[in-house]
Amino acid sequence: MTPPAVPVADRLHRLVRSLMWMVWVLALVGPMIMIAQHSVSERIAFRYAPAIDEAHRASSQMYAAQSDLRLYHRTEDPEVVADFPQRREASLRHLERLRDRAPGEGARELAVRADEAARAWWDDADRTADLVREGRPSDLAAPGAHFTEFTDATSELLSGLEDRRRWLRDVRQAIVAASVLLGLAAMAAVTVYGRRRQRRATESIVAPIQALDQVVARQRAGEEDARADEGRGPTEVRTLAAELNSMLDQTREFEREQVHLTTMQSVTLRAGQRLRETSVVAVAVEAIVRDIAEAVRCDLCVLRYRAPSGEEVTRFHTDPAGPYAALGDDEVVRLLPATPPEPSAHRTVVNPSAMPLGGPRSMMIVPIRLGRERLGSIVVADEKGPHPWRGADTSALELIAGKVARTLFERVAYEAERENVRQLRELDRQKDAFVSTVSHELRTPLTSISGYAEMLAHGAAGELTPEQLRLVEVIDRNTHRLQGIIEDILLLSTIEANDARAAHHEVDMAAVAQDVGENLLPVAGRKDVDLVVVAPHPAPVEGDPAHLERALTNLVANAVKFTPGGGRVRVSVATTDGRVVATVEDSGIGIPAAQVPELFNRFYRASNAETASIPGTGLGLSIVRQIAVEHRGTVRVTSREGEGSTFHLDLPAAGSADAEPADSAEEPGA
Ligand code: ADP
Repeated sequence: MTPPAVPVADRLHRLVRSLMWMVWVLALVGPMIMIAQHSVSERIAFRYAPAIDEAHRASSQMYAAQSDLRLYHRTEDPEVVADFPQRREASLRHLERLRDRAPGEGARELAVRADEAARAWWDDADRTADLVREGRPSDLAAPGAHFTEFTDATSELLSGLEDRRRWLRDVRQAIVAASVLLGLAAMAAVTVYGRRRQRRATESIVAPIQALDQVVARQRAGEEDARADEGRGPTEVRTLAAELNSMLDQTREFEREQVHLTTMQSVTLRAGQRLRETSVVAVAVEAIVRDIAEAVRCDLCVLRYRAPSGEEVTRFHTDPAGPYAALGDDEVVRLLPATPPEPSAHRTVVNPSAMPLGGPRSMMIVPIRLGRERLGSIVVADEKGPHPWRGADTSALELIAGKVARTLFERVAYEAERENVRQLRELDRQKDAFVSTVSHELRTPLTSISGYAEMLAHGAAGELTPEQLRLVEVIDRNTHRLQGIIEDILLLSTIEANDARAAHHEVDMAAVAQDVGENLLPVAGRKDVDLVVVAPHPAPVEGDPAHLERALTNLVANAVKFTPGGGRVRVSVATTDGRVVATVEDSGIGIPAAQVPELFNRFYRASNAETASIPGTGLGLSIVRQIAVEHRGTVRVTSREGEGSTFHLDLPAAGSADAEPADSAEEPGA
């Protein structure tokens, strides 16, 4: 049985109180002994000593008087009894005082006897003295009898008084000795008692505190189960022990929570990894339910979802040692609520009120949802309940549900995307086939139109009037233009179809630039545009010479076309860092900044070109971009409206590591 708790203050109070009592007792006993000793001394000094003294004095007066009387009787010398009156007076005075001071009844009686005997003696002595003086016969018998009476009484009195005085002195000594002994004994008792109380107080206060200290030390040494004894020591120490224990319990619980949290976090991370790495969602889900069941330590974990195909998929894991170990697919579904417990429950439900009959007693249902759409749920369940589902469980399952939802969504989106791409490819193929067919079909009638127009112009149907000739020339010009467009379209679809790859061999871009410059010099000259080509060093690239010449021709022809008379066009080719960059710079009309990103789209023409009625189809730059891509290069432009444009055709140099095929259009000034 644990001893009752006593506060430290009470213990100390008791200790101090008992010591105080001892001090008080000692403090009272000391004066009492002194008073006793004092009263004995007083009795000796003020009662017995004066009485004995008076008795002695009276006796000495009486003895002297008796001897004087005898001498007078013999000598009859009156001188001898001359001082009799004084002696009588003195002796009687002493006896009277003796009578008054005699302590005790017996002593007083003896004093009265002595006094009466003395008085009788003195009367007889006076009579005898008178007879002697008168010369008459006298004897000393009568006074002698009284004197004997007197001496008997006084000696009896004196021996009694002195006996008593001796006894009192013995008592006084005994008191002194006893008080010394008592004092020593009391000191010893106080010392022993004080030490014992101090030891007990130490044991009852300090030892329990040291025990607490030991618990802390054991905890620090890793002994997790070490707990303080809450039934030991004073109230304060017990309270401290209880608080220490509760703190240790909380710390242990917190540590367990932390460990569990970490476990759940890794389950969550692993779930994400499984979903990412496994192409079949159901396979990942199978592993996820096992991870969850093991981490949460539940009898059953079920994950149900609607696959992108619309099929309902159920995967579950049961604790092999638990009550649901032998559960089959159908039985699992039967154990769970058919629908979420609340039809609108898009939130996690812990231990729903609508539990299936004969099913688990503990359950947590976490919805797998996308916005308001419910795709499925994760259910953890225990046959017995209630299972202490923790916050870490809920948040981990919610995160996993989110990951599953996202994966399902991604799968749906991925399928849709794949279908879109397939359809787009098919459309593209149909378009290419259509464009190619239409272009080919247009070529023959256009050749025929152009041929007949030429024949008309040459007078095959008779001489034409100048007006007729002008009209025929318009027909011929537009036919040629249409033929140009058709050639461009056919070229584009050829490059896009990647047919040209096989023709690649080393081409010197410097030579290409020189050729292009030479070809376009007459056009530039007619427009009064200064065309300069700076390409002093060979700049070899791997590619199709016809396509590369076509690309550069398009860029230089545009520069000349969009540069008014008096302007200048500069073509340069340079090799740096394994790249060959052909740059075409002009001082022409430039391109509005907002339209630069659109420039390489088919049939796109900038607004300022349209406004200035500069002819064109909007196919030239798309061909350049397509050729650049074909050669794993890029084409970039920087331009400022009204000031000019610079195009860079950037290609990997022959023999260098190929760059990523890409194209881009940069903002002015970029
Ligand atoms: P187009 O047949 O119209 O020249 P392109 O595809 O070659 O077709 O060019 C598309 C548009 O880009 C042109 O219509 C023009 O607006 C703009 N452009 C191309 N090169 C230049 C340039 N050097 N200066 C100004 N604008 C240019």
